[in-house]
Order: sequence, then C-alpha cells, then structure tokens
Amino acid sequence: MGSFISNYIVIVALSGVLSALLALFAYFKDTNFAGVNAFIVSSCASAIYTFGFALELSGYSLREINLWLKIEYLGMPFIAPASLLMVIHFLGMERLITRARLIGFGFIPCLTTVMVLTNDYHHLFYRSLYLRPFSPAPLVDFVMGPGYIVHGSFTFGCLLAATCLMLSQWNKMKRVYRRQFLTILLGLTLPTIGSFMYLMGKTPYGMDPVPIIMSLTSALYIWAILSRGMLTAAPIARSNLFESMRDGVLVMDFSDRLIDFNRAAAGMIQGLDAASIGHPLARIFLPGGKEAVAYVMESDPLHQEERELQWSNGDDICYYEIRSSPVRKRGGQVAGRMIMLIDVTERKLLQDKLRQLATIDSLTGICNRTYFMERSGEVLKRCSPENGRMSIALFDVDHFKNINDRYGHGFGDSALRHIADICRSHLRPDDVFGRYGGEEFVLCLPDTSLDQAARLADRIRRAIETGSLEAPNGRINVTVSFGVTEAVPGCTLEELLTEADHALYASKRGGRNAVHLSDRSGIARFSEGSPSYIRASCNG
Ligand code: GH3
Ligand code: MG
Ligand code: MG
Repeated sequence: MGSFISNYIVIVALSGVLSALLALFAYFKDTNFAGVNAFIVSSCASAIYTFGFALELSGYSLREINLWLKIEYLGMPFIAPASLLMVIHFLGMERLITRARLIGFGFIPCLTTVMVLTNDYHHLFYRSLYLRPFSPAPLVDFVMGPGYIVHGSFTFGCLLAATCLMLSQWNKMKRVYRRQFLTILLGLTLPTIGSFMYLMGKTPYGMDPVPIIMSLTSALYIWAILSRGMLTAAPIARSNLFESMRDGVLVMDFSDRLIDFNRAAAGMIQGLDAASIGHPLARIFLPGGKEAVAYVMESDPLHQEERELQWSNGDDICYYEIRSSPVRKRGGQVAGRMIMLIDVTERKLLQDKLRQLATIDSLTGICNRTYFMERSGEVLKRCSPENGRMSIALFDVDHFKNINDRYGHGFGDSALRHIADICRSHLRPDDVFGRYGGEEFVLCLPDTSLDQAARLADRIRRAIETGSLEAPNGRINVTVSFGVTEAVPGCTLEELLTEADHALYASKRGGRNAVHLSDRSGIARFSEGSPSYIRASCNG
C-alpha cells in the first residue's frame, strides 16, 4: 500500500505538471479564440488542485492534510465552471454569457473556497474530517456538510451542462473539428465519471481517481493544441457564420476541385450538394452557363478578381457578382481559392430601372430628350465625309390640341403612343428616336443622306396618315408635319435641330401633313416622284 501511495503521488504530481503546462501553452498561444481565458483558468485551477492533492497525500497529520485540502480548494471549485465557459465559447454561444450571469456563476465557487478555508469555525462544508482507521498511509475521510452538497451539485451540473451542449452541436460540427470536439468531450466526461465512481465508493482503496484521469485528459489537450490546431477558433461559431452567410461561398483546392461550400451557394447553383465535393470547378459552374464557366476558369487563382455575371437559375435570371480570391496557408503558399457569389439581382434591377427612368420616355417607351441628345451627339461626333452622313428629322403632330380637347387627354396619350409605334416600325436598330417635347418627336438617322431621310420621313408621314386610330365615336386620322436636315462638317447638334425646326415650321405653314427639308440652298418641300424638291416660299 505504501508503494501504491507513492506511485499514486507521483502520478498526481505529474498531472499537476501537465495542467500547469497546459495553462502555459494556452497562455502563450497566439489565438483569437475567445474561450482561451476560461481554458487557462480551468487549467490553472486543475494544477492548483492536483498539486494540493499530491501534497495532501504526502501529509502525515490531520492538521497537515487539512492545510493541503484548503490549498486544493483554491483551485478545485473553479475547474468545472471555467470548463463550461470554455465550451460555450467553443460552440459560439457567447450570447448566453452576460455580465450578471458571470457574476452569479462565479459566486458559488468563491463561496465554496471561503467555506473550506473557514470550515474549522462552522463545519458547514465538512461536518467532520478524520484519518481513515486501519489505513497503512494517512488518508482522510469526511462527513459531507450542506456546503459540500451545494459544491458537488454545482460542479456536476456544470460538467453535465457542458457535455449536453457539446452533444447537441455534434451534427453541426464539420468533420475537421471533430477531433477537437472529442478531446473536449473526453476532458469533460472522464473526470466526471471518475469522481462519480469515487463518491459511490467504487474506486480501488477508496482513492480519488480524478487527478489521474486529469493527467490523461491534460496530455490529450496538449496533443490537440500542438497537432490539431485546438484553441485557434471557435469552430461551431465559424461554421455557423459560414452557413449563415447570405453570399454563396465555394472553397476550391489547388487543382480547382470543390472542398467546401455553404448553404447560400447551394441555393444559387443548381445541383450543388454533398456529392459535388471533389468535382472540378467547371462542372459546378455549368448550370450558370458557359459564360460563368469561362469566367471562373479564366480568372487568375493567384489574384483577387471580380466580375458581374448574368445567371439563369431555373426560369429566373439572376445577377451575381463573382469574386475569386486565393486562399493561403499560414506560410503564405496558395492552398486553393475561395469563390464568392454575391446576389446583386435586386441592385441590378434597380439600376436598370433607374437607368430606364433617366433615359426612356415613360409614355411612348422611346428615348427622352436628354438621352436622345446624348446619343445623337455621339452619332454626330463619329460622322464625317469618310465615316458617313447623318440626318435629323423633326416632326410634330398636327392640330393635336383639337384631339385632346375633343377626346380627352387619355386618348391624346394613346394617340401619341400609336404615332410612336408606327414611326418605330420604320426605323433601323441604329436610328435614334426620341420624344423632343409634348407632341413633337425627333429622329437621328446615321449613314443617311438628306434625300434618304426625306424619303423615310415621307413614308412615316403617310403611314401615320393612313394608320387610323379608334376614337370613341369612330376612327380618326392623325397627321404629322416633318422638317428634315442633314449634318454638314463642323455643325453642332443644336444647329441641326434649329434647321430641322425651320423646315418643320415650313411644313406647318404650308398646310401641315408634309415633309420639308432644309439644306444650304434653303428650305424645300419634299414630293415623292418629283426629281427636284419644290422650293417653298419661306426660304431661310
Ligand atoms: P399644330 O398643328 O400647330 O402643332 O397644333 P397643335 O394643336 O398640335 O399644337 P399646340 O402646340 O397648340 O398643342 C399641342 C398640345 O399637345 C398641347 C398640349 O396639351 C398637348 N400635349 C403635350 N404633351 C402631351 C401629352 O403628353 N399628352 C397629351 N395628351 N397631350 C399633350
Ligand atoms: Mg402640334
Ligand atoms: Mg408642338
């Protein structure tokens, strides 16, 4: 029994050394894991407890043993609550910890320590302490007081709560973190089982096995810290964050095969599921279309790049901003890349809507005046004798006020739409068609001579004249008057519009429903079939 006790003391002291080492490892570890402080407290408390226990075992008199017992209790009551706190951080459940709860939580261990230190005066923790009779070595036995029961229940409660919390999160734990998870679980459950057996009197020689078990769990922790990256981050918090991100994330290895993805990515990419792990990038992006595949394949895995892509997701068209950025190991070597898919559909649709509001006339769907000026200004800039000619045609609805007065403003609006539709059907894709003002429209015709422009204007005029409109009391005919002009080198858009306006005025004065054109020689009425234009009287 004597040598058994000596061996026992050696193992308990070793356990104390391991706990102290663990506290030092954790203290000096460069980590952003918020639970590290709780871990350090728990390891320090374990070291105090186990060293105190080793010294208790080596004590000879009850007085001496009683002293070491008091030292043990400077650490022991804090082990279980600190472990529970560490688990809470490990699982990313920090929201459970408030200042008030922390103070309440620390109260019982502090009270336990005070009660043990002052037990000789009140005997509320140990009713009595005595040396075990007939024992070859001096070991103490005790009768529990109410303080001991509160302390024991609190300690078991903390360890049980920590174990339950861990088990409840098992499914959410990514495989890479499972070894850390098991280490913590063993660190919690093995000492609990040991101390339970001790209290039930089921341990050899009635010895407390917890310090021995703690030497094993401390060694396990040290191994996990050194080799498994333990205490680097709160894995569940990290994986919850990853999963709860609104943006899709794909993690690829160096050879562009899928390693991991989050829930958002699975919602964005058709067919992306657990079976896709290990598949090449091109295959994963295929449902997004060839453009998506081409982009991700072309993008440089060593640099951050981003691009906006249109993506067909089933029947819907979505827009994603795709960012590819390298994932580096600690040493800086590239280990793969991370592809982020940010859904910008709403933003894109809003931008399109704003662009439309800023450029398109809402009544007729053609360019508004500002946008017309912008686009035809660009056409004019490109136009030169070598690059081609350009003409402007301005037209105004005849006696439109009468239509409004007779049939109402609403009907007037549909008449404007009707006219715009007819005109549009005569245009080429490069022609610019705009609403110049109220019932006045304007055309910018690239690569079009004055003669071609006048012919086109006359075709439109006739189409409008003959394309009768259904009014409340029968069909009515609407007519328009045109003024056409052609750009000359060095002219401005404003000058061209003024020229066209003069010609349009001539059409109005000449009786309406006509096309007049303006060139250097003056203003003339266009007449189909006539070899030369009929000179109008309003020259200039
Ligand atoms: P003219 O042949 O000389 O051009 O005669 P007009 O009646 O067409 O010309 P006037 O300038 O006297 O009248 C133009 C009318 O167009 C007045 C205005 O109320 C109407 N108008 C302008 N914009 C709109 C619109 O968006 N919708 C409707 N329904 N009417 C409009
Ligand atoms: Mg008019
Ligand atoms: Mg007008």
